[in-house]
Amino acid sequence: MLRATFLYLSEQPRIFAFIRGNRLARRLASRFVAGETIDSAVTAVRELNSRGIAASLDLLGESVTQADEARSSAATVVQTLERISAEKLDCNVSVKLTQMGFDLDHGLCVENMRRILDRGRELGISVRIDMESSTHTQRTLDFFEQDLLPVYGDRVGIVIQSYLRRSAADIDRLIGARARVRLCKGAYQEPAAVAFPDKADVNRSYMELIEKLLERGHQPAVATHNPALIAHVRRFVEAKGIAADRFEFQMLYGIRRDLQEDLRRAGFRVRVYVPFGTYWYPYLMRRLAERPANVAFILGNLVKESLRA
Ligand SMILES: Cc1cc2nc3c(=O)[nH]c(=O)nc-3n(C[C@H](O)[C@H](O)[C@H](O)COP(=O)(O)OP(=O)(O)OC[C@H]3O[C@@H](n4cnc5c(N)ncnc54)[C@H](O)[C@@H]3O)c2cc1C
Repeated sequence: MLRATFLYLSEQPRIFAFIRGNRLARRLASRFVAGETIDSAVTAVRELNSRGIAASLDLLGESVTQADEARSSAATVVQTLERISAEKLDCNVSVKLTQMGFDLDHGLCVENMRRILDRGRELGISVRIDMESSTHTQRTLDFFEQDLLPVYGDRVGIVIQSYLRRSAADIDRLIGARARVRLCKGAYQEPAAVAFPDKADVNRSYMELIEKLLERGHQPAVATHNPALIAHVRRFVEAKGIAADRFEFQMLYGIRRDLQEDLRRAGFRVRVYVPFGTYWYPYLMRRLAERPANVAFILGNLVKESLRA
């Protein structure tokens, strides 16, 4: 119920306009978002890199409705690539197609993505295409497999969500195409016809898909904070003799830092997804939907801090 409420709120831009100026909401967001500027994001990445953890920078934004906004987002992503290169960070970028005009004009989105991917290729930095709601899945995969993968190869990667019933077939095809896949559970509100409603089925699907990717995939990314799934992956790679440089663990900024450290200390590669920018509202709502206890936890900390002040 709370999950559905937060996911509903994530799609209400008018509420964002109201909430953006709210100090408490900004403090809440700062737990999951590395500030509003490239400078603040670079500081967060430097700190992660100093602990041996790689990063993926995500300029927050999605579902843009104006062509100018899509072009300006693409320009900021290009600037981000240039900063990553200039600062010699161990970092790539993640991009949402709807931020680049996917729902507005396909040609515009292609133009924006080529601009980003061409610059990434020149600088030797890869670009991961995030997966959005199921209304975009087929179009995203078509665009990735037909237009981007053949041109940019290893420099472009995609995301598959284990909650979708279709994902086993998608994974088989992507393995065949030697695509780089990040596997996550999926963060959107989806109908039962397309996504498993029960957590147990989503976890079971995750285990099946990640095993395929680890055994036959190309540099897969295990994107989860779920300790049982992580333990399963560790047992599986040990049993199959899969070397630690053939895959990486990925987690979100501000979530389960203890696990990130444990994995790194155990000799695994870890990458943290670091969102930054002004458009943090839908991202924050999805993080609250995953764990409504966050609201109580963060509010409790804020009260403690203000009592100390
Ligand atoms: C690197 C990365 C990239 C992602 N990219 C995408 C994408 O492109 N498309 C997409 O739909 N989804 C994406 N996601 C989100 C993903 O789909 C899940 O919604 C999210 O990771 C929660 O599922 P879980 O498997 O981590 O853990 P769960 O099984 O949901 O949680 C396991 C534990 O992790 C911790 N945890 C999980 N979520 C939170 C939270 N919000 N706040 C605090 N603690 C938490 C808690 O300790 C919890 O007990 C991405 C996730 C990661 C890690």
